Amino acid sequence: MSACSGPTDDEPYAPPTSESDGSDSDVPVNHHVHGEIREEIDTEAEPQQRWDGTLDSIRIGTTFKTKEDVQRAVTLWSARRSVTYRLLESRPHTWVVECITRDPSFPQERLHGAYCNWSMRASKKVLSNKWKIVKWVDEHRCGGANAENVDRNVTSREIAALIFPKVRDDPSYKVAFIRTDVHTEYGVRVSYKKAWHGRRKANDAVYGSWETNFRDLPRYLSTVRQLNPGTVVQWKFPPGYAHSSRRPFKYVFWAFGPSIQAYKECRPVLSVDGTFLRGAYKGKLLMAVAKTANNNILPIA
Ligand SMILES: [Zn+2]
Repeated sequence: MSACSGPTDDEPYAPPTSESDGSDSDVPVNHHVHGEIREEIDTEAEPQQRWDGTLDSIRIGTTFKTKEDVQRAVTLWSARRSVTYRLLESRPHTWVVECITRDPSFPQERLHGAYCNWSMRASKKVLSNKWKIVKWVDEHRCGGANAENVDRNVTSREIAALIFPKVRDDPSYKVAFIRTDVHTEYGVRVSYKKAWHGRRKANDAVYGSWETNFRDLPRYLSTVRQLNPGTVVQWKFPPGYAHSSRRPFKYVFWAFGPSIQAYKECRPVLSVDGTFLRGAYKGKLLMAVAKTANNNILPIA
């Protein structure tokens, strides 16, 4: 009846081959941390306070369920203050960031002599299985020296998490709305491209990626055939690939068994309509429908 398709996109944007969100990568960087940092003696017995969702409650001892929750909270805290951080370490049990102005390549003229020692560290506790802030500097002294790049930490992954419920309801949720949502939540403006990637990642999380959809198609059709006796599936492969285990297909056709049975009761006319598949892999999707005696539409193939 229908082939799998990627998420629809009603806006004219061609997906670029590589993404440059800047800080999406989790590459650990070794860096020595200077400055005054309040550090808690880290024992499991210390009183812990679960993050209540407010920015003022982020401090030493605050605990989070997951690493992503820590990242989201610190990104929100930073974006609302118009400051940005850079990643120092990201491992299964630690996440460490510091003020972007401490990057050796940060243009010193933008600092106006201010030295910022903001940094934080969160670790996953073995006993409680929670993420806990174990180092926290209260304030930045750089005064928004990175103002024009303040959306740096609001990555497409952050955006995907933010808009996930909306994309689940509407896969083609408009990029313009996403940008407004991000501005409302984080107080920063993100590019069209970053918002678009955020929607793509949210769509991947809901529906699977373009790659997994195509990869899963043979298994899907085999299950459809098992559960719907009489179902017809026909694959057409390019010459030379018929017997190889990894083969591209040229066409695939299927018709549900119950629909074939029901067609006997329909008016003897088939209507065919088609659409172009958008997304990473182009293609066409054709669909045949019939009409019942009551003028209801019955999908056939
Ligand atoms: Zn700073």
